[in-house]
Amino acid sequence: MRRVPFVLLAPCLAAVLLLAGCGGKNVDEFSPAAVAAAAKSAGTVNGLCPIMRKPVVQGDNTEYKGERYGFCCPGCSTQFLKDPERYLAAMKADPVRYGYKQP
Ligand SMILES: [Zn+2]
Repeated sequence: MRRVPFVLLAPCLAAVLLLAGCGGKNVDEFSPAAVAAAAKSAGTVNGLCPIMRKPVVQGDNTEYKGERYGFCCPGCSTQFLKDPERYLAAMKADPVRYGYKQP
């Protein structure tokens, strides 16, 4: 069997990772430790993106009322700022799940 050159596979792999990183299924399987670690490395008050409920990533965050909130992908901060209090309420209601540090 002929081996498929990696150069052909790489773009497919990138596309799959991109789709998995933003959108796709709602994931509820992240441990509090993983979520807390995400918050720490991103420097945000939350470790789980309040929109997609995935760990936050470095560099994708926004400030609201003096606190820095993290997100998993660029579209989420836009969504958050449309109705921040709603997402804040969800995080306050379940701070462990969101790795949320109450101000
Ligand atoms: Zn997100």
